Amino acid sequence: MFSKYILCFAFIAISYATSNTTYINETKELPLLFEHNFCESRLQNNEPPELFNAYTSLAITTYPFIMGFPKHLPFINVAYALAVNGFASFYYHYHLNWIGKQADEISMIFANYYGLHGLIILTNQKNIKNKRFFQFLNIFYMYLFLIINTIIKYDKFFPYLFSIYLLPTLYLIRKVAKKNNEHYIKYLLTSFVGALCWIISEIHCTKHTQYGHVLWHFLFPLGFYKIVLNYDLILDRLINYHLISNSSDNF
Ligand SMILES: [Zn+2]
Repeated sequence: MFSKYILCFAFIAISYATSNTTYINETKELPLLFEHNFCESRLQNNEPPELFNAYTSLAITTYPFIMGFPKHLPFINVAYALAVNGFASFYYHYHLNWIGKQADEISMIFANYYGLHGLIILTNQKNIKNKRFFQFLNIFYMYLFLIINTIIKYDKFFPYLFSIYLLPTLYLIRKVAKKNNEHYIKYLLTSFVGALCWIISEIHCTKHTQYGHVLWHFLFPLGFYKIVLNYDLILDRLINYHLISNSSDNF
């Protein structure tokens, strides 16, 4: 219930931040133009569409349909966020505009928010107080992230803020894996190789390295989604053994 109020507050704050940008544009100051080019469009005079990047984005949408949807709520929402993210990412790479950036990045933020929510449930089975506190931190970080992401001149901060948001996720993935004898390293490595390919394409952009971003589209969500499915099975076991209550305390 509490989280819903925070979400409402976040949206009001985002509306305010957006209206503030409009105000700047209406004054005598120069309007802020949004421009973002990945390696593929940098090789074509910064002109959209990025066709390879756009069409391979759709792979992200297909993962939940091919590999299956989780059974339990926070993880089901990760699957929904991925399904939306593939289309959003297609749109972003095709048009390289502001609405595409928001559609793509906000669905990534949601995917991590719900993944982290699931991990918090798995790591704080009995301790309701801790569970609520960490969930509050999760929603609060997302709230600040969304506000910062609404401001055009802060476009460059997204990769850093998203990497920071991944840190508790990675820590809890390891913690849950150790406790439940679950494989996770090979899946994280898959995602890491995807991320590395993208970084290389941005730092050293050539005709060949441009496909690094294509590999990112395939590998990064694949590794994490496999973990989501496996951890959903752990949650299922814990609920069946009554080690976690399937109540509003969790979801
Ligand atoms: Zn992309």
